[in-house]
Amino acid sequence: MYCSQSICPVYLSLLFSLLAPVVRAGEYLSGIRWQEPPVVSPGETNAQPPSDAIVLFGGDDLSQWQNGDRWTVRDGVAIVGKGQIVTKQEFGDCQLHIEWSAPVPPKGKGQGRGNSGVFLMGRYEVQVLDSYENPTYFDGQAGAIYKQTPPAVNAMRPPGQWNTYDIFWTAPRFNEDRSLASPAYVTVVHNGVLVLNHFELQGDTPFTRPPRYDYHGPKGPIALQDHGDPVQFRNIWVREFKPAVGSQERPPYIRDGDKETPIEQ
Ligand code: MG
Repeated sequence: MYCSQSICPVYLSLLFSLLAPVVRAGEYLSGIRWQEPPVVSPGETNAQPPSDAIVLFGGDDLSQWQNGDRWTVRDGVAIVGKGQIVTKQEFGDCQLHIEWSAPVPPKGKGQGRGNSGVFLMGRYEVQVLDSYENPTYFDGQAGAIYKQTPPAVNAMRPPGQWNTYDIFWTAPRFNEDRSLASPAYVTVVHNGVLVLNHFELQGDTPFTRPPRYDYHGPKGPIALQDHGDPVQFRNIWVREFKPAVGSQERPPYIRDGDKETPIEQ
């Protein structure tokens, strides 16, 4: 049959016959009572801190950091100085935004060029390195979890341009007897490019021995490394991450009108 209109009786009846079994099957309900997610106002751009972020460096000073007075702050930028800087506050699961720029002109090569690092909980390093046309061992280039995995791709901008890291961190959990209950996971987006996707860490990231987990508390500081290179940082903020909260008030069920049918588990 030919129908010139989009609302064609033949098509409508076909559509209803397709949908009918779905409608008759009722609605799935999880039985979980969810709390309303808190409202967060996003920044003007996704690089700007949302309303619930803790600004660790907004361009003025490094007062949020221990040892901050030994680094240089100039024109809204923090430049690596003597020794690492460590946040005064501690964090567990979190979202961290940080921008960094490799020195110009580039100096040195391999691990000696624009080396710094973002340490979650003071011990798990996301490598910062000038990896623009600068070969080194792959699990030591920018975006690597140092000595554990390279980034999936090299998304580096040239020296002098700003790089962004958006780091999504799941802290490791420990049992009461101090053994590992669950490892740390990290997702890293480098300049908008996903380079690590829920990577499971094998432990910490030292230079001299294999990674391992040593018991620590549920929170730890964020540290930025001094590796002797004047890497620049700006616009650093962090959000503690708490998943949505709900309680299973009844088993899952199907609701069809007044009829409620528990789902066989
Ligand atoms: Mg480093």
